[in-house]
Amino acid sequence: LMGQMMNQPLLISSIIQHASRYFGDNEIVSRRVEGDIHRYTYRECHQRARKMANVLKGFDVKLGDRVATLAWNGYRHMELYYAISGSGAVMHTINPRLHPEQIAYIVNHAEDQYLFFDMNFLPIVEAFAPLCKTVKGFVMMCGRDRMPERTSIANLLCYEDLIARHSDEYEWPLFDENSASSLCYTSGTTGNPKGALYSHRSTVLHSYASAMPDAMNLSARDAVLPVVPMFHVNAWGLPYSAPLTGAKLVFPGPALDGKSLFELMEQEKVTFSAGVPTVWLGLLNYVGQNDLKFSALTRTVIGGAACPPSMMQAFRHRYGVEVMHAWGMTEMSPLGTVCTLQLKHDALPEEQKQAVLEKQGHVVFGVDMKIVDAAGEELPWDGKTYGDLLVKGPWIIDSYFKCEGGDVLQDGWFPTGDVATISPDGYMQITDRSKDVIKSGGEWIGSIDLENIAMAHPAVQQAACIGVFHPKWDERPLLVVVRKPGAELSKAELIQSFEGKIAKWWTPDDVAFVDALPIGATGKVLKNKIREQFKDYKLP
Ligand code: ADP
Repeated sequence: LMGQMMNQPLLISSIIQHASRYFGDNEIVSRRVEGDIHRYTYRECHQRARKMANVLKGFDVKLGDRVATLAWNGYRHMELYYAISGSGAVMHTINPRLHPEQIAYIVNHAEDQYLFFDMNFLPIVEAFAPLCKTVKGFVMMCGRDRMPERTSIANLLCYEDLIARHSDEYEWPLFDENSASSLCYTSGTTGNPKGALYSHRSTVLHSYASAMPDAMNLSARDAVLPVVPMFHVNAWGLPYSAPLTGAKLVFPGPALDGKSLFELMEQEKVTFSAGVPTVWLGLLNYVGQNDLKFSALTRTVIGGAACPPSMMQAFRHRYGVEVMHAWGMTEMSPLGTVCTLQLKHDALPEEQKQAVLEKQGHVVFGVDMKIVDAAGEELPWDGKTYGDLLVKGPWIIDSYFKCEGGDVLQDGWFPTGDVATISPDGYMQITDRSKDVIKSGGEWIGSIDLENIAMAHPAVQQAACIGVFHPKWDERPLLVVVRKPGAELSKAELIQSFEGKIAKWWTPDDVAFVDALPIGATGKVLKNKIREQFKDYKLP
């Protein structure tokens, strides 16, 4: 017996339609690449997205065609999110921090038909445009006054000219909700990048799930500032989940330094933000040095890499900002788990609450997870046994774009490449990426724990722990550390601070002080670069 309910496809266009119809006055505020602040409403965003959909129609972009963007978080990028996916084409966001040749590889692999870019990326686009085999036109996201007088790009178009010339009369088409909506390449730290091809269905479901109270807890009373870029797994879905709930959106453009972020947050009364730990480092430094306080910010999602407990404590205790530690990956749209406390935790002493919050958390409904050993046998949820983390769910890939890498699933589960423990009540904690685990005398040492202890030292700005060759143990941990500006700290002092916090044999053998850690295109510390840098390091 079939249910007798309307069969309405879950399409991305319905999100902007909903926001425009029911939250039409709510704002989208953007710090533009041009330098000034731009503000308009969901209603106007919807109107311009429809104009852009007509532009794409004029370009003869068809269902399933890929259209690329190379842009910061801003309102024009938002319009493209809806115009491209809503009209049935595939929104392909590209990370501008990649090397031009890598960008060209991705554009050619995706067979992008058009490419939209922020005006400050013109030199990069000029560098890779001749390598692009399928792109019919490049569109610079600015007004006529900002267009270059001379450029090597033959077919360069102006975004605002196109918008001005097109009507906003456009009916969003209906099609199968399983159609591809957007494409995001993994950063490809090893080998060529691979594409995760999301569908309308997966994106809408992910938006519902990520907005829920024990996930990001979004509502029309929020002002949301995604620091995480729209080219990094769709800014973790916020350009969809914010309009779905009616939340105001605040886009920071290219200005991601502590001062610019803080000023925008205060000016726009931002209540919620999201980003990787390295950006929060800059923000916390700025706020700390200038003795400032957040007047509206109540919570922030930190993920993409482990959030050091010291950072979480600073947010919670010094600034009264709740930190939701979240875990996910490009292949998961990205949200897998979020850490929040339950009623049963209320009675716990603060220290134990903090210990729960430091974990990566519980799955959002829709995602299922398990840990397995090398033979694929499921391991117990005791909070101690660690194993390879596998996941499944409707917003997790079942293969990469163009089936790159072949069949990636293990008995229907996606292997995340992360190593984790799961507590009896389902709180997951990442111990490491499997390729970052330090293998000492046949046993594993989790680098994240060691980094967290190091970062809790008041003189440490940033720390990364890697395994380096050891003649007896194969590998031993080396801490690579950036000291806080002006702070003094000796190796012995730092190593001393590990005492009592960890099994003795986990203690790092040595410390190397450096001026900075290598940071990758998504703002994460690049462990493989550090390993490369210290590959001949002789431990004492
Ligand atoms: P990449 O870093 O390769 O560009 P992703 O952004 O998809 O790709 O990164 C996903 C990976 O980031 C996860 O597999 C995990 O190793 C790491 N990660 C994400 N969130 C967390 C977290 N909260 N704690 C620890 N590691 C995390």
